[in-house]
Amino acid sequence: MIPQVDDGLTFAQRIAAQTKAQQRMEQLAQLSDGIVGLQNYSYFCYMNSCLQCLVAIDQLKEHFLYSIYKEKFAGPKNIPRIRNHFRLSGAFTKFYQLVFLKKNHQQYIEDQRNQKRRSSSRGGPPPIIITPEYIKQEIYNKFSPVFQHDCHEFFTYIMSTLQDEETPVTTQGMKQNAIAGGAGRTPEEESWIQFEQTHPSIIDKLFSGMQKTIVICGKCNEKSITFNPFMTLSVAFESTLEKCLAGFLKEDSLDGRDQYRCDKCKKQGKAKIKTELSKLPNILVFHLKRFQFPSMKKITGRVQFKTYFDLEKYCKSPLDAKDTLYELFGLTVHIGSLTSGHYIAYTKRTGGKWYMFNDESYELVKESDVLNQEAYLLFYRKVTL
Ligand SMILES: [Zn+2]
Repeated sequence: MIPQVDDGLTFAQRIAAQTKAQQRMEQLAQLSDGIVGLQNYSYFCYMNSCLQCLVAIDQLKEHFLYSIYKEKFAGPKNIPRIRNHFRLSGAFTKFYQLVFLKKNHQQYIEDQRNQKRRSSSRGGPPPIIITPEYIKQEIYNKFSPVFQHDCHEFFTYIMSTLQDEETPVTTQGMKQNAIAGGAGRTPEEESWIQFEQTHPSIIDKLFSGMQKTIVICGKCNEKSITFNPFMTLSVAFESTLEKCLAGFLKEDSLDGRDQYRCDKCKKQGKAKIKTELSKLPNILVFHLKRFQFPSMKKITGRVQFKTYFDLEKYCKSPLDAKDTLYELFGLTVHIGSLTSGHYIAYTKRTGGKWYMFNDESYELVKESDVLNQEAYLLFYRKVTL
């Protein structure tokens, strides 16, 4: 007897799903470990270092390699559901194909061999080097190719663009403001549920968390609470990452130029402000504020960070009460001064091995080397992800 599976699919849909699963298995066999160098003709190290950290995320690999974003949002063509027709997502698909498809690597090796017949050969297996040309083309408007740019700015830009491309137009720009708890839910739960329902992108699923900001008016003591999604935590420089985070969550006062205008008493004046993490993201990115403006100075030196980071004591909300342990899997490092510098990346890849990526070149490194770096962006993921 054939067991009946009640998955709500028709016979034809089930066959199509099986075929697709079969195709993916076959494609999987065609994949490399994705350890490649990234070509840099000019100032693109900020981009390359960031991309190497993203390549280490399996969920993004599947999503872009198999263009899953297209399947999820297939719908009536006359309804403008999605912005920009997946322009940057499409560029990422091409990029991931170059990084992961063995056939592309073989092609590269063959091309190299043919060129070497004409030029001198140095022996030894050459590293695979790919050019993230399609992604460059998509960012030219924002990031001029003749200047060095900030790696965090690039990360923020691509995250928000990829997020937009998968967010239905009708729900874009919806604000998360003080939400009353309903149906026995806390305001934290309610605001997160609303956010999730309106933000289905892979970027939100992986990188978005929610922070709760509490402002207390110095005149009338009225408490104002807002919930805001975040994708990176920009923290001030301290000796350890724990201290950076504690500093970020510390109560502060709004005064001087930042005076607060209260909605209740309508007066302007001092206020207390405090941020809490009400929902932790699956992937938590720390941005260490090394660059100081307008003084144009860079803070050098090391912030101590560890392979594992438990955020339990930093997270008051019950939303993540049992899921607060993170594991480090990537970092970008800025070498040199603010005006003339270079970015490299360290990322953990298949088999838990760490690699250092410096544009075209890469090498296996020890974890102790990684922990000694002067990090700029730090990528952590929940151990349960
Ligand atoms: Zn007030």
